[in-house]
Amino acid sequence: MGEAELRAKEHHYRALFESSPLPSWLYDQETFCILDVNQAASAQYGYSREEFLQMDIRKLVASNGVAHMEALAAQTNISVDGEVTSLHVKKDGTEFEVAIYCHQINIDSRRARLVFARDMTISKQLEQERIYASSLETALAKDREILDLKERFLSVVSHELRTPLAVILSWVNILSRYHEKLTPQMQLEKLNLIRSQVKRMTHLLEDVLAVSRGHANRIEFQPTTADILATCEEIAEYVRVADQNQHPVNIDSMLPPGTSAQLDKRLIEHILINLLSNATKYSPIGKPVTLSIHHEDDQLVFSVRDSGVGIPKEAQERLFEPFFRAENVASIDGTGLGLVIVKQSVEKHGGTIDYKSRVGKGTTFTIRLPAKHITYPAVAHSDAM
Ligand code: ADP
Repeated sequence: MGEAELRAKEHHYRALFESSPLPSWLYDQETFCILDVNQAASAQYGYSREEFLQMDIRKLVASNGVAHMEALAAQTNISVDGEVTSLHVKKDGTEFEVAIYCHQINIDSRRARLVFARDMTISKQLEQERIYASSLETALAKDREILDLKERFLSVVSHELRTPLAVILSWVNILSRYHEKLTPQMQLEKLNLIRSQVKRMTHLLEDVLAVSRGHANRIEFQPTTADILATCEEIAEYVRVADQNQHPVNIDSMLPPGTSAQLDKRLIEHILINLLSNATKYSPIGKPVTLSIHHEDDQLVFSVRDSGVGIPKEAQERLFEPFFRAENVASIDGTGLGLVIVKQSVEKHGGTIDYKSRVGKGTTFTIRLPAKHITYPAVAHSDAM
């Protein structure tokens, strides 16, 4: 290479070194003396070029990183591309984290290192700002969702309350104006009608409260050791009474009586009462409803099967939306909130819910919950042994 060519090349590298936005140094690998430095280093570290050229580069490294730097400098022919971080110190004593890029070059048989330092505080700050912005976005989206839901709640609930209130008011008017003309039997009938409307409103309000608690993430999860079969028996009995025994409600358990697990009994009640009530509500009178229970791998599996009206295909993907009700159940009372409560309760347990349904044939909902601390009853030993 001719001298002119050599000079042109050197000029080219100098220009690159000088114009680098990253603080850059060239230092002697044996003495650690700074041989060259660029403008960005002076701007960021606060030393003038003259001061730098009098300095040992180790002065830029926080005291606990010097040994590591010396070890790195002792290695020949290594390149570091940002995977090493170090704590650097400015002239005014401020410490900050940098990612180091360094390459070995030989100048007139002296081993030297070309070092670039990238200020990590900026990228860390950007990363923190990005995390903050994305969490803000998530919180805003959640707020919007809650607001939308609140509006829907208000309009549906006020509509759903207005109807029974109007019915109650009209029967109360009739009773107060004409009670003398009504037989005791007729008066009792009107009072029963009022009672059923009040029950309907209470049910709606309870469901609304349960769903909004779930949305505000205020459902508590308090597992205790529960006898699985006994809990299911109690729930089935509750459903039979509410259903006025219009459907046989059976339990088909593969678990021996006395098997227990860590469950939140209140949430299990929410889940199974809603599913069993739906199964009876959406089945012709007399058709049986079955709750099956078994233990599979590390899951407790509960299935509620009915032979009722089924869920139309087009309704299936919207089943867990608040207030959603399929068209084929329009004549049957309901709030469209039960399955939302079931899903929230299942998720609180860390479980999953799925279903299979055919219109006119029936529906099966399957809940899988993690089987925590499942304990089988001790097997009684025969005396004859
Ligand atoms: P609700 O029963 O009060 O309407 P849910 O949230 O419990 O509200 O159920 C939502 C909808 O899912 C019901 O309106 C009905 O269309 C459908 N559904 C739920 N369970 C069954 C079932 N066992 N058989 C048929 N349809 C069902």
